[in-house]
Amino acid sequence: MTERRRMLTGDRPTGKLHLGHYVGSISNRIRLQREYDSFFIIADLHMLTTKNTVEDIGKVAENARHLVLDSLSAGIDPEHATYYLQSAVPEVCELNTLFQNLVTVPRLERIPSLKDMARDAHKEEMPYGLLGYPILQAADIMCVRSHVCPVGKDNAPHVEITREIARRFNHLYGEVFPVVELINAEVPTLVGTDGQAKMSKSIGNVIYLSDTPAEVRKRVMGMYTDPNRVRADVPGTVEGNPVFAYHDAFNDNKAQVEDLKTRYREGKVGDVEVKEKLAEAINRFLDPMRERRAKYEEQSGLVDQLIVEGTERTRREVQATVFAARKAMGLTGA
Ligand code: ATP
Ligand code: MG
Repeated sequence: MTERRRMLTGDRPTGKLHLGHYVGSISNRIRLQREYDSFFIIADLHMLTTKNTVEDIGKVAENARHLVLDSLSAGIDPEHATYYLQSAVPEVCELNTLFQNLVTVPRLERIPSLKDMARDAHKEEMPYGLLGYPILQAADIMCVRSHVCPVGKDNAPHVEITREIARRFNHLYGEVFPVVELINAEVPTLVGTDGQAKMSKSIGNVIYLSDTPAEVRKRVMGMYTDPNRVRADVPGTVEGNPVFAYHDAFNDNKAQVEDLKTRYREGKVGDVEVKEKLAEAINRFLDPMRERRAKYEEQSGLVDQLIVEGTERTRREVQATVFAARKAMGLTGA
């Protein structure tokens, strides 16, 4: 059997997964998981750039379990996934050190996401680790010699840095690293239940993949709709209305969605009916996840075992990678 190419992707362990994550990244991973040997990083070191109190770090273990169980429930196959805890693979930091001199400070400062953060007002508060974030991310991608990395537009410049570092390393010391390919994972951003910003757990405008049917219903019934529509017989606007954005994204009954839109525009349907049908649709969408979650929860210790074994596998891989990198550089200690 020829070895499958490798994919690296993952999340910071800062909480549970919500519908925004599903639309933005998880659905894509589910699609790609069998095509590649998939490594899923639980990026707790990256979390430290914004959350680094003892209290924040104390939540990593629980949040890591949420990440794994939520993504398994969503459809990631535990037989084909390697989950690992970034901080438990310290050799990644060694690779980070080896890569640090292959990229310049101005190059890092030009990355759009960092440029925004480093704008005058915030520059004084910007930690060194944030400037170095893309190098650590390059170390993550290259530590398992990943071939592909699925990213959206925001993260593409980081993967571009990874490619530059790989080429520079290979040029200086010999071919050790694949130059990672970017898989364009451009997807629409899911708006939050408040209709004001993207769905985001720190704002609280979320529907979690682990919400019960009653919780989903409650969150949907409280959703923002068309503010100009004071009564059911007033024609409403479908475009930009979060309730209809969700109908489009999650309601599998397309005829029902079209009928609701038509009646909404004509002022012939109330918000309550539109929301009731949306809650039912989202619950239909989440039901198979609930079934899988129940099945995985029955297998006690499964999630912990996946993280421990995945981390062990990854650590062995990374040790071999670091050995190869040091050897190529002549850093053999002799
Ligand atoms: P926080 O509030 O702590 O920032 P969050 O809920 O916004 O958390 P992140 O951890 O910032 O989630 O998101 C991680 C990744 O998940 C993003 O880079 C993006 O790919 C995807 N994602 C998150 N929210 C959405 C969304 N509303 N729509 C599409 N993709 C999303
Ligand atoms: Mg966010």
